[in-house]
Amino acid sequence: MDSAPRTGPDSARTGQRGKPRKVPRVVVLGGGTVGLYAARRLRKRLGKREAAIVVVDPRPYMTYAPFLPEAAAGSIDPRNVVAPHRRAFKHVDVLQGKVTEIRHADRTVQITPAEGDSYWITYDHLVVGLGSVARTLPIPGLADEAIGFKNVEEAIAVRNHVLGRIDLAASTWDPDLRKKMLTFTFVGGGFAGVEALAEVEDMARAAVRYYGAIEQEELRFVLVEGSPRILPEVSEELGVYTLEQLRKRDIEIYLSTFLSSCVDGRVVLSDGTEFDSETIVWTAGVKANPVLQNSDLPLDKMGRVICLPTLQIADAEGNVVPDAYAAGDCAAVPDLYNPGNFCPPNAQHALREGNHLGDNLARVLSSAPVTEYKHRNVGAVASLGMYKGVAQMFGKIKVRGFPAWVLHRTYHVFAMPTVNRKIRIMAGWTGSLLLRREVVALGALQDPRAEFKAAAAPPKPKAGGAEGGNAATKRESSPEHAADTGGPDAAAVTSHGRADENPPGASSALTSAGSPASDPAGTGDPTKA
Ligand SMILES: Cc1cc2nc3c(=O)[nH]c(=O)nc-3n(C[C@H](O)[C@H](O)[C@H](O)COP(=O)(O)OP(=O)(O)OC[C@H]3O[C@@H](n4cnc5c(N)ncnc54)[C@H](O)[C@@H]3O)c2cc1C
Repeated sequence: MDSAPRTGPDSARTGQRGKPRKVPRVVVLGGGTVGLYAARRLRKRLGKREAAIVVVDPRPYMTYAPFLPEAAAGSIDPRNVVAPHRRAFKHVDVLQGKVTEIRHADRTVQITPAEGDSYWITYDHLVVGLGSVARTLPIPGLADEAIGFKNVEEAIAVRNHVLGRIDLAASTWDPDLRKKMLTFTFVGGGFAGVEALAEVEDMARAAVRYYGAIEQEELRFVLVEGSPRILPEVSEELGVYTLEQLRKRDIEIYLSTFLSSCVDGRVVLSDGTEFDSETIVWTAGVKANPVLQNSDLPLDKMGRVICLPTLQIADAEGNVVPDAYAAGDCAAVPDLYNPGNFCPPNAQHALREGNHLGDNLARVLSSAPVTEYKHRNVGAVASLGMYKGVAQMFGKIKVRGFPAWVLHRTYHVFAMPTVNRKIRIMAGWTGSLLLRREVVALGALQDPRAEFKAAAAPPKPKAGGAEGGNAATKRESSPEHAADTGGPDAAAVTSHGRADENPPGASSALTSAGSPASDPAGTGDPTKA
């Protein structure tokens, strides 16, 4: 820990602690749901001469996570599930970087940008909206094999990966490999997990219609849930309904079961079930942002910042920590409608808490009394793929199927920040209804420089003399020679040769001449079927 924090690029504007600023400075940690709404509300209430606002986030945008499953399914353009800070904020400064330490006693935070040195900034009032991260367990293979579903980058990676597996499987003759590629495992049956699984499965089935070489029955989707039910956010009846709907779609669901291991994609469950899967998506809950451990703010046992219903940070005895506020997934905010409980970590609360926090801070800065945050849950809506959904409104009203799906879209498009994004999302939905959604895999996005690097790499020195070397090169690259060798190239050359007569992916290309079904020995060579 540095003993003397150095102030950063803005120190000239801020002055050092001890010298009061003319305009109080509010630093908002995290530009997600809480950060965006709190900063905007505060700016709406107070002018530039009444408060300076700085938002710190490593990402230049706020992500509306309830739309991530639809973004993964291709129903919404990924760019439209985010609200860019520079457009969403007016008269609010944005610093791009990670908060790495909070010293509230000194009213300073350390910021570490993606490039360059860490620096410190000072503030008069702090707003903590750092959200949550995936709650993982020390399961063998998990860190290497699995992917989360918490942000837009992960959602798009899952989409590209799933579509990429389908593409590869359609050109693979090895039946075991093909099975592994077409097995998709989701761990965690809460809202995020069920929506992600249902949307991605729906997309995969829509995509497979374009592949003559893959049958719908070959797609295997598996959901693993540790508790005896899915969707704890809705009533048991709707949870059971959703379970039945997913099972009707041939999705395998393991309840009261845990993932024990997934080393090299070999999934082992606590009930002894084993199978291979190249796709493992981890959606088994969240925990408060761990950077809070690197602060002097009071935290509860779960690592959340302790809050009063006014969204002021307080110590364990309930004494207000001056000049500090928190809300959202990273905060333990008492739920006044459910005494003894805390507000659940969801967008419904985060968004309203953000607005309330902005109002309260404006009150403090105007010497007015703060008020308590109180919100009765309006319910939960989930999309389970195109035209399918489940919803529970105001605790009692249960909606299923198409009406629930419409409700989901209507509710979330209104909750999506900025008019710009609402319009873009609705325009995208209209386009998809008319033209069908796009199911192309852009997997190379994950490593866009690979092809260029290969092209720019210096040529390997040729083995042997000039004449001999050339001859060898010529022979290696000749299709006849490749076919002679009977190696993997043989399959490629053979299938390419056939592709002239049968387009790649046409069922005749694989089924009659070389599908795994016609290659029971698994030789990898379709000509030996
Ligand atoms: C797939 C999925 C589906 C969901 N569906 C629903 C739903 O249907 N309904 C619902 O109500 N809720 C849903 N949620 C939950 C909801 O999105 C969250 O509860 C809500 O976004 C929490 O808001 P927040 O502001 O606390 O955190 P976030 O919105 O996550 O914001 C946290 C911000 O902090 C930033 N940050 C992180 N680390 C640092 C750091 N070190 N320094 C600076 N900034 C940092 C992040 O980049 C982010 O911008 C869903 C969540 C997921 C993942």
